[in-house]
Amino acid sequence: VNILILGSGGREHALAWRLALSDSVAHIYVAPGNGGTLNEGKISNVSLDVNKVDSVVQYCKDEDIGLVVVGPEQPLVDGIADSLKTAGIKCFGPSQRAAKLEASKAFSKDFMLSHNIPTARYKVFSDYAKAVEYVQSVDYRVVVKASGLAGGKGVLLPETKEETLAALQQVMQDRAFGSAGDEVVIEEFMTGPEISVFALSDGYTSVLLPAAQDHKKIGEGDTGPNTGGMGAYAPTPFATEAVMKTVHENVVKRTITGMRKNGSPFVGCLFVGLMLTPDGPRVLEYNVRFGDPETEAVLMLLDDRTDLAHVLMACVDGHLDSVHVGAKDAFAATVIAVAGGYPGAYQKGTPIKIENDKTSACGKVFHAGTTVNADGVLVTSGGRVIAATAEAATVKATLENAYTTMRTVSFEGQYFRNDIGHLALNPTDA
Ligand code: ATP
Repeated sequence: VNILILGSGGREHALAWRLALSDSVAHIYVAPGNGGTLNEGKISNVSLDVNKVDSVVQYCKDEDIGLVVVGPEQPLVDGIADSLKTAGIKCFGPSQRAAKLEASKAFSKDFMLSHNIPTARYKVFSDYAKAVEYVQSVDYRVVVKASGLAGGKGVLLPETKEETLAALQQVMQDRAFGSAGDEVVIEEFMTGPEISVFALSDGYTSVLLPAAQDHKKIGEGDTGPNTGGMGAYAPTPFATEAVMKTVHENVVKRTITGMRKNGSPFVGCLFVGLMLTPDGPRVLEYNVRFGDPETEAVLMLLDDRTDLAHVLMACVDGHLDSVHVGAKDAFAATVIAVAGGYPGAYQKGTPIKIENDKTSACGKVFHAGTTVNADGVLVTSGGRVIAATAEAATVKATLENAYTTMRTVSFEGQYFRNDIGHLALNPTDA
C-alpha cells in the first residue's frame, strides 16, 4: 500500500519512519514533509497544499494512495477525513464532527459533563458581562480558555481575581485569539502531574499506547513561556497500571462510546491530556490526532510485532480488535532542539550539521522544522527544529541516549532543555 502523511513536523517524520517498517507499505509520501522525510528509504516528500482538499483527493487517486494519515488538527477540523471518505479514500483521522472534541473546548466540556467523564468544573460564556459576573462570584481559582483553536496558546492561567478579569478582557474584548475567543470556558484550576495518553480507535474498540509526559515550558525546571513542546518521555511512572485502567474505563471508553452514540464515531488517535489530581485523573483537553513531541517517543516503544500500517488500517476498517498492538518493556525519550529566540521571534534558514543522520546505535534524529534549500543545504525552517529520540531499559539510560543523539546535531542558536524527564528521575518534585 502507498501511504500519504499530511504534515511537516517531528511527529510526521516519526510516523513515516515507523510506518516504513511495515512490509505491507510500498511507499510513504509526506506532504509537505521536511528535510528528514525528503528522501529516506521508502519515504519522500510531495509538495501539496494540505488545506486544498480537492488537490489532496486528486493526488490520492493519481498516486494510488491506500491510506492517508493526518498529522495536524486543522485539516481534520476542516473536514478532510469526510472529503476523502466520500471520494473512497481511506483516512486515519476523525470526521469534522468528531474533530469538534478538539476544535471546541465548550463542546468537549459539555460532552464530558453529559457522559460522566472526569474533568474540572466549568462554565461556558459568550457574553462578556456574564463572564465577568461569574468570575466575581466564584471563590476558587479559575483558568480562562478560548474555546476555539488557538495554536496551543488559548489557555490563560491567572493567579488573582484581577488577573482573571484581565484575562477575560484579553480574550473576549481585545479578541487576542480572534474568533477562537468568541466563547470562553472558565474552569476550576487543578493541580497535579500531567500526562498525555494516546488511544487508537476504530469507533468501537480502543487501545492505549504508553502514557507520555510532555514539557511545554521553554526553560529548565518548567519555567518561562509555553512552547509546542520541548521534549517528552514514555511511559511515565505517574501513569501507574491503576491510573491507566481508570483513564481507559472512565475517560477513553466513555468518550468513544459517547461519540458513537452521538452519531459521530471517533476513528483515529484520541489524545487525552490529563492532570493526575488528588481526586484522581481529570481531563484537561482532547486532541484528535497524535501529539508532538510525544509521538516521537511513543512510536519508538511499539514492539516488533506491532505493524503500525496494519493497525491504522484496522482502525479505518473497523476491526482494531483483530490486530496486535503492544509496547516494549522499555522507555523512550525525545529532546527537542529549537531555534534561538523561540517561542518568540527566531531566524529561519540557518544551516544544520548532523554527524550521523541515520538511526545510530543510540537513537534517531527526527527532523521537525528543517528543509533543504536551493543549494542543497539542510537548514532550519521552524521554531522546533530537531527531535532527538532514543530508547533504553531505564529512564536514566534513555535520557542519556537521547542527549547523546542530540549532540550529533548542531546549528547556530541551537537550544534544548537539559532536564527532560526530570520528574521521572525525581517524582517527588511533581
Ligand atoms: P495544547 O497546546 O496542548 O493544544 P491547549 O492550548 O489546547 O494546549 P490545554 O492543554 O487545555 O490547552 O491547557 C494548556 C495547559 O494549561 C495545560 O497543559 C495545563 O498545564 C494548563 N491547564 C489547563 N487547564 C488547567 C486547569 N483546569 N488547571 C490547571 N492547569 C490547567
